[in-house]
Amino acid sequence: MDKEIRVFCPATIANISCGFDVLGVALDNVGDEMVVRKTRKKGITITKLEGQDLPLETHKNVAGVAGLALLSASDYDGGFEIEIYKKIKAGSGIGSSAASSAGAVWAMNKLLGEPFSNLDLVKFAMKGEELASGVPHADNVAPAIYGGFTLVRSYDPLDIIKINTPSELYATVIHPQIEVKTSDSRKILKTTISLADGIKQWGNVGGLIAGLYTEDYNLIGRSLTDHIVEPIRSILIPAFDTVKSASIQAGALGCGISGSGPSIFALCKGKSSAIKVAEAMQKVYTKVGITYDIHVSSINLEGVKKMNP
Ligand code: ADP
Repeated sequence: MDKEIRVFCPATIANISCGFDVLGVALDNVGDEMVVRKTRKKGITITKLEGQDLPLETHKNVAGVAGLALLSASDYDGGFEIEIYKKIKAGSGIGSSAASSAGAVWAMNKLLGEPFSNLDLVKFAMKGEELASGVPHADNVAPAIYGGFTLVRSYDPLDIIKINTPSELYATVIHPQIEVKTSDSRKILKTTISLADGIKQWGNVGGLIAGLYTEDYNLIGRSLTDHIVEPIRSILIPAFDTVKSASIQAGALGCGISGSGPSIFALCKGKSSAIKVAEAMQKVYTKVGITYDIHVSSINLEGVKKMNP
């Protein structure tokens, strides 16, 4: 059995429009790398962290906290060292914390001979998400671990469903360079919704799932609407409405807030459409003078994966 593994930890889009807290998807072209190594020393030690200014202390880093959750459920009597190479910016809304939580527990499970199921790994990784945002949400860590689209059907008991990914689906994500903390963007949400909004929302969730399974791109587009969270949260994101209308005009199936923002995502049919949408989004931020990162990506069907050392 390997003593050390290098893994790719994908960025993820959560809160896919109508699917607040329940739907997420993993990306291919943006993600962190991690090296995880078995040690005789018990516990988790983060020995290296490059690319972002984040805490190295085990209890303050999501990789450490998620890893400790796995260790406490395991009969392994050693520990692990972790090196983290961050490419995803913290607070960007594309699952920076989830990539580290999911990557750590996936790699440890691999090194231990896979004693845990994907569902177990999601539960461990959720401890990391709790550290990052105060809420143990699964909508980023589930797609990071299972790959593709995932639905968190229920939190109690935790029930994760992997959803079909249409073959031509691409994602475009633009990250305006402002930081929105998940904990802050949760604070502005209302805790109740009207029945009328609920009806519209679950109609769209059902439509989106049906569209993903039948690979009906038009239905996917019609269903990518959020009547509950986006109208409130979008006020935290500069030029959100303009970016959204520009991307739809450029051919996006739909467009919404990625995670808790400030990243904005669009789902597109085909790579050339996703590139056109990226150009349209960039134009908006260039015009208003906001710097950004932009990603065009196919959907990552495997989730966290082993890389060559
Ligand atoms: P994102 O939605 O992009 O994951 P969050 O705001 O949810 O962003 O999470 C980032 C928070 O998690 C930051 O406060 C950061 O300090 C903390 N954090 C701790 N460890 C890590 C890590 N390994 N990677 C990313 N963020 C981490």
